[in-house]
Amino acid sequence: MPDTVNQAGPAYGIRERIGFWLRNDATRLLFPSVCLACGEPGVDGLDLCADCLAALPWQPPSCIRCALPLRIPTGDDTCAACMLDPPPLAATRAACLYDAPLDRLLPRFKFHGDLAAGRLLSQLMARAFSGVPRPDALVPVPLHRARLRRRGYDQALELARPLAGALDIALRPDLLVRQRHTQPQSTLDAATRRENLVDAFVVPGTEPLPAHIALVDDVMTTGATLHAAAEALLDAGAARVDAWVCGRAL
Ligand SMILES: [Zn+2]
Ligand SMILES: [Zn+2]
Repeated sequence: MPDTVNQAGPAYGIRERIGFWLRNDATRLLFPSVCLACGEPGVDGLDLCADCLAALPWQPPSCIRCALPLRIPTGDDTCAACMLDPPPLAATRAACLYDAPLDRLLPRFKFHGDLAAGRLLSQLMARAFSGVPRPDALVPVPLHRARLRRRGYDQALELARPLAGALDIALRPDLLVRQRHTQPQSTLDAATRRENLVDAFVVPGTEPLPAHIALVDDVMTTGATLHAAAEALLDAGAARVDAWVCGRAL
């Protein structure tokens, strides 16, 4: 996959859209699906072969609040840490653990413009979340404008758009804005991550928010970004905010 998407700007112009389509959707009309992890023929309408599909690290029984796997499934679905210090997220759903092949597919999607990998990851999320309580709206965790310009596309929005379509949920990227250009979270420790995010998100509108919102993001690591985004929505009047992520890093 050429890396030209990252240099394309401004984001989401007609030329970028046609470029995405030619590199991604158009090739699907001509070629059968191929496993993005190993190159074998895809199965089940996915760009994954039977073996890689069977080996996916689907999320095991986990804490409802933070999506960390429960070591001893006791019937109680909240971990001790979340009981003591409840996070702002009412529920966190993860499709998979952030493990192979997600640890290769997600960076390909996020940093190298591989939208076919993004489409596959969104399909996995739709399968994982088809049975969970539906929110009133999906809100992708926004990128700051400057990072969007550099990257050329917003990975959370690209996951959320097909997911909203597949599950018939309203997609509302307009409800939340990233107003501060924060340092990449991956370069910081946990305490600095939280500090980095103070006032990073703002709800720009004045209309009442949907009561139940699910934030969509690619990976949850410490949860600091999702917590900051959830707090902004709760402060602005949302009654409940969940997180829906593709991969949960341990
Ligand atoms: Zn495969
Ligand atoms: Zn927990």
